[in-house]
Amino acid sequence: MPELPEVRTVVAILNNEVIGKKIKNVEIIYERIVQNDLNFFKDELKDQSIIKVEALGKFIIFHLTNNLILISHLRMEGKYSLLNKDEKNPPHSCVIFYFYDNTKLVYHDTRKFGIMELKTTYNYLTSKPLSNLGPEPFKIDENNIENIYKKITKNKPIKELLMDQSIICGIGNIYADEILFKAKINPLTKGKDISFEKFKEIVSISKSTLTKAINLGGSTIKSYHPKDGIDGKFQNELVCYGHYGKPCPNCGTLFHKIFLNGRGTTFCPNCQINYELKKAVGITGIIGSGKSECLEIFNELGFKTLSCDKIIKNLYENNDELKQKINKLFFYKALDKNKNKLNYSIMRQFISQDEILHENLENLVFPFVEDVLINEIKNSNYTLIIEVPLLFKAHLQYLFKKIIYVESNKETILERLKLRGSKNPLADYELYLKNNNFKISDNVIILKNNSDLNSLKEQIIKISKDL
Ligand SMILES: [Zn+2]
Repeated sequence: MPELPEVRTVVAILNNEVIGKKIKNVEIIYERIVQNDLNFFKDELKDQSIIKVEALGKFIIFHLTNNLILISHLRMEGKYSLLNKDEKNPPHSCVIFYFYDNTKLVYHDTRKFGIMELKTTYNYLTSKPLSNLGPEPFKIDENNIENIYKKITKNKPIKELLMDQSIICGIGNIYADEILFKAKINPLTKGKDISFEKFKEIVSISKSTLTKAINLGGSTIKSYHPKDGIDGKFQNELVCYGHYGKPCPNCGTLFHKIFLNGRGTTFCPNCQINYELKKAVGITGIIGSGKSECLEIFNELGFKTLSCDKIIKNLYENNDELKQKINKLFFYKALDKNKNKLNYSIMRQFISQDEILHENLENLVFPFVEDVLINEIKNSNYTLIIEVPLLFKAHLQYLFKKIIYVESNKETILERLKLRGSKNPLADYELYLKNNNFKISDNVIILKNNSDLNSLKEQIIKISKDL
């Protein structure tokens, strides 16, 4: 969806192309785009000329003679093309403005979500939709910033608030991800947890990011093209949006993606910390390294502990949405229909023969586990110690103030795997090693677990004093 920089680019092109043109007649092909009575729309626009075109947030505003204002919103896919009268209309043409100079401005929109509404200079700013808009980031200064900050201090994720056009207008999904990455703020952070100082920083980053994007003609993502054949260049400058799975330019940690209100949201789990969540300690390490032993010791020391294996088991038993999704993934063979129970032995059988299916199952389950973890951590008044076998693979670093990585030597692990009945301990070991790729950052504590239980206990007692 075009955001402020893209709309500005479209407006700059329209100002070059249509100023001074006089409308001969209007053809409405797709009626729902036009919010007025159709005949009124056509009659009023006939014989009027375009004086100037402006942008306000994501809206395009045509100023016409006779005090007319045409408000247009491109929504997902709307586009304008100026053509000669006899040229073929683009596919999905919705509204066509024919000019006296034998050219036509065609509004075309594959999704047909765009809107147009005719207003007057007297009412266009004081009636909906424009009366509902907050200021563009550029219009935020010392006179209004405290007022806007008040609207940000809500119990909602900051990303949602930044995209709320009634608070600040012009920022959508792409630029919200970029701005929050640059400000090192986790998109899930509640607005009420953002300090006034931090908000000032967000505003300043918004201004610089959007200015740079405007100068580069916006971002060409999927279907946004300011003009046929001309692409925006800002997509090359995007450092976070769309970079899921790629390394963060600041720290090398792989970008994580979650869904926030149905919108894909990318962030660095290491740089964009959510302080509200950073109360827990994660224990991870490859299979057979002794994570559960460590958790047990923490438990004995009086810590509140949680294990992801238990969370997953609970989800498998009680979460109907997940059960249905797993069933679908396993070709509708994983669910025992009468009892509405997952059949683990069938699932194991499938997985053992299909590594990609195993991977897909993990990717399906991770977000559910993530939701449970976020809730548990938020609602806990204590430091929770949580065993998360695939912490790094699932990009969950952002949930933990400290991460304990349990390490054992290869021989010890192979021995433990054999004891657990692994048929091919070496293959298991190598697979888990591959999944535990991580970058050592300041908050990772390495715990050696090769010898006896007493030495492990001693190390944990030492660590636990700082948690
Ligand atoms: Zn980073």
